[in-house]
Amino acid sequence: MKNIVGFRLPADVRPVRHDLSLTPDLETFTFRGEEDIELLVVNPTTKLVLNAAELQVLSAVLLMGDGRSLVPDDIELDADAETVTFLFNREIQAGSATLRINFQGILNDQLRGFYRSQYQDLHGQTKFMATTQFEATDARRAFPCWDEPNIKASYRVTLVVPSNLTAISNMPVESEIDLRDGVKAVSFIESPRMSSYLLAFIVGDLASVEKTAANGTLVRVWATRGRESQGEHALDNAVRLLSYFNDYFGIPYPLPKLDHIAIPDFAAGAMENWGAITYRETALLYDPNNSAANTRQRILEVVSHEMAHMWFGDLVTMEWWNDLWLNESFASWMGDKAVDHLYPEWHMWTQFVSQDTNAGLSLDGLRNSHPIEADVQDPAEIRELFDAISYSKGGATLRMLEEFLGEETFRAGLQSYIARHQYGNAETKDLWAALEEASGLPVTKVMDTWVKQTGYPLLHVDLNREDVEVKVRIVQRRFLYDHLLGEEPDDPTLWQVPVSLMTRSDGSKKSSLIGEREGAMAVTTGSPGDWIKINPGQTGFYRVNYSQTDWESLRAAVSSLELPTTDRLGLQNDAYALTRAGFIDATSFVLLAKEYRNEIDASVWGDLSANLRGLEMLIVGQPYLSSLHSFGRELFSQIVGKVGWDARPGEGHLDSLLRAIVLGQMGNYEDPETLREARARFDRYLDDPSAVHPDLRGVVFGLTAQRGGRDVYDSFWDLEKQADLHEEKIRLLGALTRFQDQALLRETLERSLSGEVRNQDTPLIVVSTAGNRYGRDIAWQFLTDNWKEFDRRYGQGGFAIMRLVSIAGSFTTLERAEEVEEFFQVNPAPSAQRTVQQALERIRLNAKWLELNRDKLGEWFASKP
Ligand SMILES: [Zn+2]
Repeated sequence: MKNIVGFRLPADVRPVRHDLSLTPDLETFTFRGEEDIELLVVNPTTKLVLNAAELQVLSAVLLMGDGRSLVPDDIELDADAETVTFLFNREIQAGSATLRINFQGILNDQLRGFYRSQYQDLHGQTKFMATTQFEATDARRAFPCWDEPNIKASYRVTLVVPSNLTAISNMPVESEIDLRDGVKAVSFIESPRMSSYLLAFIVGDLASVEKTAANGTLVRVWATRGRESQGEHALDNAVRLLSYFNDYFGIPYPLPKLDHIAIPDFAAGAMENWGAITYRETALLYDPNNSAANTRQRILEVVSHEMAHMWFGDLVTMEWWNDLWLNESFASWMGDKAVDHLYPEWHMWTQFVSQDTNAGLSLDGLRNSHPIEADVQDPAEIRELFDAISYSKGGATLRMLEEFLGEETFRAGLQSYIARHQYGNAETKDLWAALEEASGLPVTKVMDTWVKQTGYPLLHVDLNREDVEVKVRIVQRRFLYDHLLGEEPDDPTLWQVPVSLMTRSDGSKKSSLIGEREGAMAVTTGSPGDWIKINPGQTGFYRVNYSQTDWESLRAAVSSLELPTTDRLGLQNDAYALTRAGFIDATSFVLLAKEYRNEIDASVWGDLSANLRGLEMLIVGQPYLSSLHSFGRELFSQIVGKVGWDARPGEGHLDSLLRAIVLGQMGNYEDPETLREARARFDRYLDDPSAVHPDLRGVVFGLTAQRGGRDVYDSFWDLEKQADLHEEKIRLLGALTRFQDQALLRETLERSLSGEVRNQDTPLIVVSTAGNRYGRDIAWQFLTDNWKEFDRRYGQGGFAIMRLVSIAGSFTTLERAEEVEEFFQVNPAPSAQRTVQQALERIRLNAKWLELNRDKLGEWFASKP
């Protein structure tokens, strides 16, 4: 671990205003920069310490308030601390001064700092653009600055670029001056006070579509020239979202314009640069003839998430990275809330439970999890925070809190929080304080137990029935998957749990706050023996276990679809987790899964499918794998018959999602009819791509690959080369990971590291190959064989390296655990240290689970119940 203190800049001097000019060179991939930083010297000092990394400082001078200038004696660059220090031979007095710096840097290919992105234009010509990604700590790679979120300053940016290119930054263009020789200087209006990680500069051959929102804000969607019309879908929705957010926050969007820019090479999904949000193309561009329903939704989710950040994160910023979760959780929750408002028929909250609540519960059930509010100091630790705890557990607990306080009270508290801290910084406790004032409820006391503690509770529920009167006894204990290992010490952790329940005859919720080990509630049912469901709507961040009898009555309520949709989703997810943690037998989960044959909802099928796939990956190599497949075919047969292959008139968005999910599963379970039909449709696609609806292409490609040989394989690569829309390329690349022939999978992996695949997409190919039961071992082998290159490309990037490392977690033997452990001892991954520990924990749990369930599950399948 590096020296902690060195990573915070001294507080003697603060920036007030940056006047920054950058000249990127898209041929040599370098840039030059000039910067005047207006400073406030708070305490007299002989040195100025700023952040800088991979920059070369050419000259510097300090212009004093009295007109004199001071040249530093020495300029020290510290690569470890990522700082530049200007040392002076006499003390600089308190007051104002301006630091003038000339410097140069590189337009790197690592998707961070000021970097280059390569793409093919509409005529197949290779082109380059320059763009930025500064969160968390990479603004310092573009210019010397105080690169800490709580040190806000205003920025006047000038970009000197070739005359034929477009330059975009956070603020609107103020002036454009022709410098002759095909070069122009584009200057932008001065920004309000903001954090360095939210700045953005984008230079390239770009074009846009635009609209003016109701309140006068100019909204534009940008893409590489010729592709801008694919921004219409995002544009229409961004304008609608802006009205929603302006109204919700009570403070209108504070900048004069809001740009959304699609970048061909992009590490994350999108980045909330204030007024200039950047995206990967698949998260922003929509082609009505070639884009699928899930892309239509994903674009809404991402645009909405990033726009929520314009207030929460950008206008009010976290004091330090330990509160990163507040930014991300809030945007995850608020983003879906706004989409739900625009598209209630998408049932976003049911999808939220699958994508966020359950993802958070899954990761946070490991002993190697971490509290939402984490203590972080160095950049590697900060990057590690971008995980399902920060985004998903945080988002789910905010949703639980909103439910506990009431929607309007929650909003009132938020509005006063934003108003109080706008253009400044705040900590988590400031939000709790505002919500406490608005509600009069003990928000801090409740939320501290969720935010400061690792994990979450499992509620053991006992129903003591006397006719229709039921006494509900609830005991909370920390949920840990390693309960399975049978050696769990008595964990003293307790949570303040807002527990709610509903009954068969009364769908309205009854709630109670339980903060002790044990709690009790009382309820009256319509008839004796009626089912009772804890956590209706799955708004609580906890799991529930029932007695055998109560599980049975809930099973019946699943089969009859009497239980509401989100509760059906939650019930099987809890059961699967309880199986994995050894609280209930694997056979109990499979028995419950059987009751979902009448299911009709896309999200429920999606979540159940993922759990069954998890089970499948555990028993790969067991003699009864084929029995699980026939179980799967039987389970999915009814819904597959119902939705068929072709859309019916008047169908909704969720029907499209449903069809792709269930056909994909039916094929995965080796249903010959489904696989045949997929192949037939692929042949039609080869003749005429429009013959296969975009919603079905992913399934058709994937299932064709599953049974395909070399000829199909080669045609996928040809199609990938021809495709212009990146979404189509991604679908084809995904299919290239679904073959059963290991030689073909190896070839896909090899080519993923060549120039054939965009840098940003390689991790996706490795992760997807690892998810193929024929590819798990070779994906790991490939990752370790090429570790140096993966580490060079993604080691500093957060998301990608964590996803790559996490593939090890699906192994099921202790020998593999040892191998993985030894590998990372020799090849450390500082930005994914915790992910390594999580993967090792998962492997050991998998091995133990198999040991305990292998035979029982085999017998169950053999008896064909
Ligand atoms: Zn975000």
